[in-house]
Amino acid sequence: MIDSYEMARARMVNDQLRGRDIVDPRTLAAMQEVPRHLFVDDAMQARAYGDFPLPIGSGQTISQPYIVALMTQALGLQGGEKVLEIGTGSGYQAAILSRLAAQVFTVERFNALLAGARRVFDKLRYFNIRAKLDDGTLGWAEFAPYDAIIVTAGGPEIPEPLLAQLADPGCLVMPVGDQNEQVLQLLQQRDGQRTVTPLVGVRFVDLVGEYGWGR
Ligand code: SAH
Repeated sequence: MIDSYEMARARMVNDQLRGRDIVDPRTLAAMQEVPRHLFVDDAMQARAYGDFPLPIGSGQTISQPYIVALMTQALGLQGGEKVLEIGTGSGYQAAILSRLAAQVFTVERFNALLAGARRVFDKLRYFNIRAKLDDGTLGWAEFAPYDAIIVTAGGPEIPEPLLAQLADPGCLVMPVGDQNEQVLQLLQQRDGQRTVTPLVGVRFVDLVGEYGWGR
């Protein structure tokens, strides 16, 4: 049986993703598979597949589906990778990554958000995600290096500890800029060389921490 959320997801994938520049078949399949509505409050489930960000509590937001897909696609995951995410929030981006990589590690600074995300991971049986409460600008040294790192909050620059925990080859995507607007940057590391490619202008919530904005 096809439920209405599944249809809403199919429309989202077609109109908002395929209709733009999301072409990676694995990314499109993950966006079709993961039930985004379970990552927002009951009262907002009907709007979960709209072309916009939504509030998730603690003053934070879940990114618009297109931005989640764009950041995911930029990482070029093949299936065997170890991925680090900074900014668990609702858990939706980590859930998408967990369908495309071997292991996902995610760090969040608000306990209420972390607890909510963990509940959904368990419910969906996404057992390859590990989440912890911490300042994610410090990375997660215990499981480094990471083949891919994704930062889902905006900061003034790429935190040094994250660069130190990036594998070679490896890539990192993060919104970099001021507290009003940022540019999504893709950093690729190969043979000790780093190249940075700007992708698109974005507006993310603040990355708050030792290597981010002050509290
Ligand atoms: N990836 C999330 C997006 C959440 S918004 C999702 O799919 O829903 C960004 C998140 O980054 C917020 O939850 C915010 O609390 C968190 N954040 C900001 N600074 C952080 C830091 N230094 N360490 C960990 N999480 C941080």
